[in-house]
Amino acid sequence: MLDELKANNRRWAAGKLSVDPGFFKRLEGQQSPQYLWIGCADSRVPANEIVGLDPGELFVHRNVANLAPPQDANYLSVLQFAVDVLKVKHVMVVGHYGCGGVAAAVDGQRRGLVDHWLHPIREVYVQHRAELEAIPHLHDRMNRLTELNVIRQVRNVASDVFVREAWARGQSLCVHGWVYSISDGLVTDLNTSIASRQELETLGG
Ligand code: ZN
Repeated sequence: MLDELKANNRRWAAGKLSVDPGFFKRLEGQQSPQYLWIGCADSRVPANEIVGLDPGELFVHRNVANLAPPQDANYLSVLQFAVDVLKVKHVMVVGHYGCGGVAAAVDGQRRGLVDHWLHPIREVYVQHRAELEAIPHLHDRMNRLTELNVIRQVRNVASDVFVREAWARGQSLCVHGWVYSISDGLVTDLNTSIASRQELETLGG
């Protein structure tokens, strides 16, 4: 099985070179992506592929259920590097319908460490309990929770001190919330973008 992956890799690299002989040489010098993708680790949501971007064009951070927890050093390091050094123009928090992490957060089963990781989603659930519990089908309820989780994570990113400092020095930076549908491959923009401190404050952030 692994041999097949190595063979795939050789073919992929050769394919890139055949259409653009300078492709890897150019990337070797530096990366200058315009976008940071914060997405779920789910294998069905391959960041670059979904938005048709090549290596070098998308800075990617993925974890279970696309969280941006303000105390997570891994996520914060990625965010700071993307904002302060790479100076990305857009951050997309990308959830996906049918997310196992979102469902696991509220199904009442104990799984161990991941329950701690997923705790912020339980908080989102509690905050929106009335709306969520008015949705009759579990599948639809979980999809709505997926959207609410993305909206919450967008606010987390926009509230972060690195993002606030970037806005204060006049850097152009917009945080977006998207949801990807595994069933048709399409991304929906939740229209929850935040591009300035004023917009964040309007939302009570
Ligand atoms: Zn997921």
